[in-house]
Amino acid sequence: MSLEGGLAMATRKKKGSAPEERLEADRRLLELLAAQCGEEAGLHRPLNDVTGGVITGIPEETDLAQALSDRETSDLLVHLLDQNREQVERALERLREGAYGICEGCGRRIPGARLRYQPAATRCVECQAHWDRINGRTA
Ligand SMILES: [Zn+2]
Repeated sequence: MSLEGGLAMATRKKKGSAPEERLEADRRLLELLAAQCGEEAGLHRPLNDVTGGVITGIPEETDLAQALSDRETSDLLVHLLDQNREQVERALERLREGAYGICEGCGRRIPGARLRYQPAATRCVECQAHWDRINGRTA
């Protein structure tokens, strides 16, 4: 797999490495969380504290331990973690292609404010909403 090569290439150009660092950190965190979910580790903290707001689509006050004790919520959580990790990896891919910050849907530049809030975004708000509708996602 060319992941290593791609990463090395992306890290070589120092300019604008901030979103990449944040995305890599997000990815590591999501992998860690996914592992913890698998082990059903009881973390008695609000989920958003644990995730640092990385995961979208989970109610803010959801407690991870509580979520994991409920099979259905736990499955949803694992699903969301997967989905979010996928999105982060997609953004990293775009970064390596030099297309980071360009909407996958309409090809226009994604507003900087959106990227600061959601660094893994690969679509503008309009295209993301459209895509979510097509794919049946509510996040
Ligand atoms: Zn768009």
